[in-house]
Amino acid sequence: MLPKKADFNGGLYQFLDASPTPFHAVAQLSTMLEASGFKPLNAFDNWSLVAGEKYFVTHNGSALIAFVVGQDDAWTRGIRMVGAHTDSPCLMVKPKPEIWTNGYLQLGVEVYGGALLNPWFDRDLSIAGRIVFQSAEGQLSHQLIDFEHPVATIPSLAIHLDRDANKNRSVNPQKDLPPILMQVTEKMDFRQLLASRFLSPNDQVLDYELCFYDTQGTAIVGLGNEFFSSARLDNLLSCYVGAQAIAQADGSHHCLLFLSDHEEVGSVSASGADGPFLESVIERMLSSSVAASQVLGRSLLVSCDNAHAVHPNFKTAHDAQHQPKLNGGPVIKTNVKQRYATNSLTSGRFRKLCSDADIPLQTFVSRSDVGCGSTIGPIAAARLGIPTIDVGIPQFAMHSCRETAGVEDPILLAMALESFFNLAESLAWDG
Ligand SMILES: [Zn+2]
Repeated sequence: MLPKKADFNGGLYQFLDASPTPFHAVAQLSTMLEASGFKPLNAFDNWSLVAGEKYFVTHNGSALIAFVVGQDDAWTRGIRMVGAHTDSPCLMVKPKPEIWTNGYLQLGVEVYGGALLNPWFDRDLSIAGRIVFQSAEGQLSHQLIDFEHPVATIPSLAIHLDRDANKNRSVNPQKDLPPILMQVTEKMDFRQLLASRFLSPNDQVLDYELCFYDTQGTAIVGLGNEFFSSARLDNLLSCYVGAQAIAQADGSHHCLLFLSDHEEVGSVSASGADGPFLESVIERMLSSSVAASQVLGRSLLVSCDNAHAVHPNFKTAHDAQHQPKLNGGPVIKTNVKQRYATNSLTSGRFRKLCSDADIPLQTFVSRSDVGCGSTIGPIAAARLGIPTIDVGIPQFAMHSCRETAGVEDPILLAMALESFFNLAESLAWDG
């Protein structure tokens, strides 16, 4: 059984705060899944899978697939799949980042994904990610690091020095964003700083993937406690909900949770949705007598990525007939240009499933005169030929470093996915 709403949301907030990077998110999810009875698999080993058992495997430490080998026949019953992504827009530290100006040490940053840049100013920033290092004995290793406390800031320029700031201030990522780390009297090497903070003496940092993040933790917001604000709701919220839901799978059916990396930069990578990870795990999960394509046509992928709730100050940014609101339930997303993979067969099935479970649904389609975002659903559908629906929880401020969603919605999506994973009826339209 899923936890009660307060406990469910409490676990979600802890997960969000403990997952500043995709690496940390996958580590957290691995611990959660293992505690729920999922057995860790190594991609490089032979697998001997047992019907009714639950497993998970990671890729690059930043993508994860959890699956249940069902007791029924995958050929006739298909696979119940849920997808989401582990990455979020952020500021990543450049390879040679040190900038010394006016007695300050700053770090050059690259913008990862379609970040809203203005919210990054005047935040208490920390740094987290993965470092690769060599020990004094020549041993090569890697580890996750997190400074945890605020170690940097990107101050706004005072309005007195930029009188037009409220009218037309734009952000140049090369010039305006390098965060300030400290005051220095001599030049310092960032790799040495990392080594002295996290490694043993004489260990040497060879390289890293590190990002800045806002240290402010998740908070419940609103006079009636209706909302919660956090970083990375897009799309760690869906990752958490998916993991909670697949933990409820009863073992009857083949189920799979696919959490990919690099969605915010197009998904074309070894650990992205346009890479081989999902396909290879599905092949290994199925018996060799059946072609994956036969099973996939009878499967369904529920691709979960947050949706845009209508903003009351900017409501004309939405189509007047399609204005999802916070706490109104999960949103079905459609787009005729296939930026979302939803079609009437997949949305019809999902609508019935939610109505049977008494879960409210909302619908989103873009205004006809503005473009539409996309997500992993269309990519997985195009790669694997799997029927797909795109859904997501409504949120404000997508791609800000501080996003807001409704406290009622996460468990509604979890209940929908739990029903989906345990759905007894066949997913095939041909009987
Ligand atoms: Zn997303």
